This record gives sequence, C-alpha cells and structure tokens, in this order.
Amino acid sequence: MIELSHVSKSYKIQKKTGWFRSETQMKCAVKDVSLSIGRGEIVGYIGPNGSGKSTTIKMMSGILLPDEGTIRVNGVDPFYQRKQNGRNIGVLFGQRSQLWWHLKLEDTLNLLRHMYDIPDAQYAARLSMLRKTLSLDEFWGQPIRQLSLGQRMRGELAAALIHSPSILYLDEPTIGMDVIVKESIRDLLKLIHQRDGITILLTTHDLEDVERICSRVIVISHGQLCFDGSMARLREQCASDSTVTILFASETPELPDQLRNVKKEGKRVTFTINRAMGESPLLAETISRNIVRDIAISEPPVENVIRDLYEGVGQ
Ligand code: ADP
Ligand code: MG
Repeated sequence: MIELSHVSKSYKIQKKTGWFRSETQMKCAVKDVSLSIGRGEIVGYIGPNGSGKSTTIKMMSGILLPDEGTIRVNGVDPFYQRKQNGRNIGVLFGQRSQLWWHLKLEDTLNLLRHMYDIPDAQYAARLSMLRKTLSLDEFWGQPIRQLSLGQRMRGELAAALIHSPSILYLDEPTIGMDVIVKESIRDLLKLIHQRDGITILLTTHDLEDVERICSRVIVISHGQLCFDGSMARLREQCASDSTVTILFASETPELPDQLRNVKKEGKRVTFTINRAMGESPLLAETISRNIVRDIAISEPPVENVIRDLYEGVGQ
C-alpha cells in the first residue's frame, strides 16, 4: 500500500562563510530509505529531532520530490499524481494547523467538501460519524482560535478524515499536549483505526504514543532506517537491562554469582538481568530454590532502549 524504494532527499542550505560570502551546501535529510507498509497497518515512525521523519512524510504526501528512489502510495506517485494521491491520504501536522483560524470547524469542513467534490449524501454520513466519534459538538459553533489544543486536534482529525481516505499520516499529533489530552487523542486514533481499518503512519518523538497504539515501529536516525519490527522485538534487540526486585519469605539466600548489580536489603534483593543476553535462567534459578513473597520486573524505560539504538547507528 505504501512502498518506498531507496529514497533519498537533501536540502540546499546557505552557509555564511564571511561578511558578504556564503556558499551552498547540501544537507542530507533522508538517506536510502526503503520500506513497505500494508493495508490496515498502524505503524509508528520514530526518531530524534531532525532525523528525517517529517521529510519522509512530506515526500509520501507529494509535498516534496525525492532526489533519488521511488515512492508509490496506493500505486500512485505522490508528487507527480498529487491530486489523485490527495484523495487517498489524510495528513495531520501537529505543529501546523490546516484549519482556518477565524472560521468555525463546520466552515472549514465545508470548504474541504468542495475541494474534494464529496457527494452530499456521503458528506452528510461522514460528518455525522465524525461529529459523534470526535465529540465535535462540544465546540461546533466556535471559531478555531478559541479552541483548546485537544479540541483543535480533534478538529484537525476531522479535517484530515472528511474525504474518507484509506491512509492517514500523522506528524507529531500529540506534540505539546498534557498527559490526559494525549491519552484521549491516542484512544481516538485507536478507535478510528479499528473501525475504519485505515492505514496509519504515525510520526512521533513520544514513545508512549507508539507503545500505546502501534503494532509495528520503524526507527530512523540521521536519515537512515535502523529498525523495523515490533516494540517487543525492539526491546529485545537493544541490550538494555531489566531490573528485578524479589521479596523472599525469609532472609535473602545465596544468589547465583553471575547476577549483576545485586543489592541486598534484608528479605529484599534487586539485581539486573539482560534477556537479550539470555540471562533469564539465572532469574528462574534464583526463584526456584526459595520461597518468594513477591517479584517485580521493571522493563527498561523505552527512552533508554531507543537511546541505545540511536547510539548504535553507524557503528
Ligand atoms: P524530523 O521531522 O525527524 O525532526 P526533518 O525531516 O524535519 O526531521 O529534518 C531532517 C533534517 O533536514 C534536519 O537536519 C533538518 O534540519 C533538515 N531540514 C528539514 N527541513 C529543511 C529545509 N526546509 N531546509 C533545510 N534543511 C531542512
Ligand atoms: Mg518533524
């Protein structure tokens, strides 16, 4: 459904080299990226700031032309068949509003209806569905500039979905939101995905977004892909440690020598294991020989996992 094959993109930048002189340099934003996303998938596209996420989305939307490589979205070249591509995709840029600031949402949606030539009956049905799902009635009569960030994002989603696209690109949809509003947007995205079977590509630097809603994650760093798989596999692949805390029934017994970072405190002990390195049997051995009251294993924060991964790139 979405196919990128050896896609690269550089920007021209002017560098000042003296008082009156500057020279043009090329800044490579995306380097030899190939990926394939199937119908109905919900994929997280993550990477640190400046890693090339937005540039990729812009090429997939037809806003930018790749220097090298080919892109097909529903069989269409997004740049050269921009209008056709526009009918297939919905796009939301969290940092830039596509709603008219002084208009009510209703008016913006009406403009989009004419832009996309949506037949009346289809528009009415779609609108009533979106009003319900996204609770648009709460601010239906207000100009966009008066809305809270969460309300505005629901409006943006309605605008991105009004023409019933089969693909939705979300570029940082939760940026700047507080935890509760973020959660509600994530729930909405899950709902929309489940109900419409829409293909979603979600760009974010917030790993919670990915953990909560994506079944697959693609990681980009310095313009190059460095991982494509499930969140669980991402965790496994990164050599990060899990912290184990065990509360024994009586004083902490002798433990296997190979355990690392052991801290004993009466009946309680904490240590770290690395599942990727096959250390789980050590844990099993520790538990099996003693009476255990409680056990807790905390996965490494995903931030650490990703940091390990980013740092591993290019080595
Ligand atoms: P991300 O969305 O992952 O933060 P971007 O795709 O926006 O990353 O940017 C990738 C790289 O390209 C960055 O180094 C950024 O500074 C550079 N870049 C992005 N847009 C432009 C532009 N219009 N002109 C010059 N450089 C740009
Ligand atoms: Mg970006």
